Amino acid sequence: MSKENSWGSRSLAGVWHPCTQMKFHEDFLPIVIKEAYGVRLIDEFGNSYIDAISSWWVNIFGHQNERIKRAIVDQLNKVEHVMLAGFSHPPVIELSERLSEKTNNKLGHAFYASDGASATEIALKMSAHYWRNKGYSAKNQFLALTNSYHGETIGALGITDIPIFKNAYADLIRSAALMPVPYSHEDSEIDACLNYVEIYLQENCQNVSSIIVEPLVQAAAGMLFYSPRYLDGLSQLAKQYQIHLIVDEIAMGFGRTGTFFAYQQTNAKPDFICLSKGISGGFLPLSAVLTTDDVYQAFYTNDISQGFLHSHSYTGNPLACRAALEVLNIFDDEQILEKNNTRLTKFNELLQPLIEHSSVIDWRHIGMIWVFDINTNNPIFAKDCYRLGLKFGILIRPIGNHLYFMPPYTITDNEFKELVNATVKVLNEVE
Ligand SMILES: *Cc1c(COP(=O)(O)O)cnc(C)c1O
Repeated sequence: MSKENSWGSRSLAGVWHPCTQMKFHEDFLPIVIKEAYGVRLIDEFGNSYIDAISSWWVNIFGHQNERIKRAIVDQLNKVEHVMLAGFSHPPVIELSERLSEKTNNKLGHAFYASDGASATEIALKMSAHYWRNKGYSAKNQFLALTNSYHGETIGALGITDIPIFKNAYADLIRSAALMPVPYSHEDSEIDACLNYVEIYLQENCQNVSSIIVEPLVQAAAGMLFYSPRYLDGLSQLAKQYQIHLIVDEIAMGFGRTGTFFAYQQTNAKPDFICLSKGISGGFLPLSAVLTTDDVYQAFYTNDISQGFLHSHSYTGNPLACRAALEVLNIFDDEQILEKNNTRLTKFNELLQPLIEHSSVIDWRHIGMIWVFDINTNNPIFAKDCYRLGLKFGILIRPIGNHLYFMPPYTITDNEFKELVNATVKVLNEVE
């Protein structure tokens, strides 16, 4: 790994990077990636890095996936873009049908945008507007879970509970009421949390539009797992107290937890599902909100102001929709969920050196996510770990002391082994 890239200060002068204190780059320039294939990123000097986090969880089938590439090229030769108001095109029609099928046709109406934060905002707007159209305009408050993450636009920060992303902008934000999360999986704790929510709803449901949750795993907070029974309970309370349940599958959707959607491991009945990240396999920006016929019908009148008013210039872009369709085809043709599940025993065997490592104090696993809590006093463990990872040829980005793998599903056994061995080296060297 080189400290430099061949672009020098030019690589920083113009580009303002996300999630980054730019001054920290004074002694560490960004790595310039020239090529990527499969699970590997190749920098301009030929160094390769195993992408253990699917490039922020989007790249579920590896880089330069041939099938997705071919689908996009084919679409490029037909139509690259057309506005979605007044016009439509085959990829968006088909994609909407296919996404609906994935919900057993319970959420058969898809509304599109380009990123996850917009999808969560669309769900909030749609939910509140639904109640308004029904004559309950006071129902416009939102509930979210503690440690939640739903994106970083001003609206999405209102339902996000991660101080580092939120504090500086607190004065701009209309914050949701936060509900507790049972991390212990003990019945008493789950019941206590549900009880808290129920009491809150008894007093406030006439002002509450919806509750939004990350299903089973709170990813950005550090891959925190909570009991599926909690999601069941929230879903029941939502029905009982007449508020919507918004399930944000942006990180967990598309097979990450072992089922196509994470909520499918529960009996929860969402009114809205938010999708992005894996939806286009990391090729093009795309997001979608799926909703029910009940919600759709509440907007279906002769009055334009009762219609759902929200638009982005690139809504339903044909290239992105084609990529997403191919992602769904790959899931079906290659039986990805089944294949991932049958590989778990092998993966867990390969993980032994890491599981047994002296600095790992806790580890947990669901589907294609592995999380290792590291015993460390190093206040910049995550940063040190990230940089050492690059030295040993892997891209890992721990969140605090939570080190996790969310690799592309195409990772081979050998690549997985390489990843584990490199991570052990990182842990041996990190302070
Ligand atoms: C990443 C993420 C978002 C935001 O998506 P962006 O495309 O980054 O705006 C929202 N919700 C969850 C659960 C996420 O992981």
